[in-house]
Amino acid sequence: MTAVTWSGSRDIRVVEVDRPALAHPEDVILRVTSSAICGSDLHLYTGNFPKGSMTKGDILGHEFMGKVHEVGDDVKNLAQGDRVVCCFDISCGRCDACRHELYTLCDKSNDSTAQERLYRDKSGGYFGYSHLTGGWAGGQADYVRVPFAEQNLLKVPSEHERHGDLDVILLSDVLCTAWHACEMGNVSKGDTVAIWGAGPVGILTAQCAQHRGAKKVLLIDQEKYRLDFAERRLDPRSLVTLNGRQHQHDGGVAKAVRGVLPHGPDVCIEAVGFHYASTLLHKAEMSLGLETDPADVMNEIFTTVRKGGRVSVVGVYLGYVNHFNFGCFMEKGLTMKAGQTPVQRYWKDLLKKIENKDLEPRVVITHELPLEDAARAYQIFNDKQEGCVKVVLHTRF
Ligand code: NAD
Ligand code: ZN
Repeated sequence: MTAVTWSGSRDIRVVEVDRPALAHPEDVILRVTSSAICGSDLHLYTGNFPKGSMTKGDILGHEFMGKVHEVGDDVKNLAQGDRVVCCFDISCGRCDACRHELYTLCDKSNDSTAQERLYRDKSGGYFGYSHLTGGWAGGQADYVRVPFAEQNLLKVPSEHERHGDLDVILLSDVLCTAWHACEMGNVSKGDTVAIWGAGPVGILTAQCAQHRGAKKVLLIDQEKYRLDFAERRLDPRSLVTLNGRQHQHDGGVAKAVRGVLPHGPDVCIEAVGFHYASTLLHKAEMSLGLETDPADVMNEIFTTVRKGGRVSVVGVYLGYVNHFNFGCFMEKGLTMKAGQTPVQRYWKDLLKKIENKDLEPRVVITHELPLEDAARAYQIFNDKQEGCVKVVLHTRF
């Protein structure tokens, strides 16, 4: 079968490999029809990951969907031919973490000791996302093995043409992540919300915040084309966009946000991640020697958010982050929540919202390419070429 593999920093290779086989009675083998590239994949693509956590030939991809091809003996609610979306993380559905709906912290899906060293605790396993998160093969391929299939696959209706792959594929991750960002920030009717990052996650977070009745939504990025794109896709009545680059020399983003909301936003959401933000990673662990970026998103958030406000972090961070203004966090009495998204907590409700046209995640998809063109797809998404916001890869089935 054809698969998209990591071969080094900025080195994506589409190769022929053996098809996966059922390895456990709770497995499904999925015939993938579409997969997406996530901002999280860019951390792997650019090599901003702990040394040794990726191996040449690792199959990438954690946002994908397709048709059930083979079913393990213990899988009762799925049959060959069912159309399903797969969630990005792998959870068992039965352990202590899963019983508390903390699926991305599942005890059973990841036994990496490297992960334990880095976080001092284990996170769950993810498809196609390094040996830190279980070393599971990803879904940017013709076929993929899905463990604990009843827990990790969501059946989607096949009968309606309007439920094309583009309508539902983002339930695998970024739509649920956008919703999770709003849930963690408790975004409610009448709130003012500022979102850092106008990538697929940030734009969909803005869409979800508008759906939840936010009075004003500020979307902040440094790429003008992404803000222009967001303005065309979101409800203009409550949207304000801010280009961080334009405010570099006039007091910065924090001052610009206060210009719109003098008391500060009720909720600030981080949808950027360490890939860009000014983080000094613990070098002994990370062996990366990263250059810091002048933009310091978390501290912009702490100084901007209103007193007693809420901070929600879905942008991915790894290891130690220094120069964190903990004093500001404490003195302003802030609440902060962060985490990888427990997709299964939300995806059934969000599927209904898509069916009712309350949410329309496909608006962020700008590019569709064949799986074979994955190297180019990673490049245009990472380098922000051709107005790219979100890429979906299609297999040739
Ligand atoms: P993306 O890379 O397309 O978007 C990030 C955006 O941030 C870009 O548009 C970039 O221009 C912008 N940016 C960079 N520096 C900035 C700054 N200083 N201020 C404001 N904006 C800035 O990625 P994405 O797919 O939208 O994902 C966003 C983040 O969410 C990534 O870190 C990704 O790893 C993370 N993520 C988390 C989860 C989760 O479960 N928590 C799931 C999916 C993605
Ligand atoms: Zn993702």
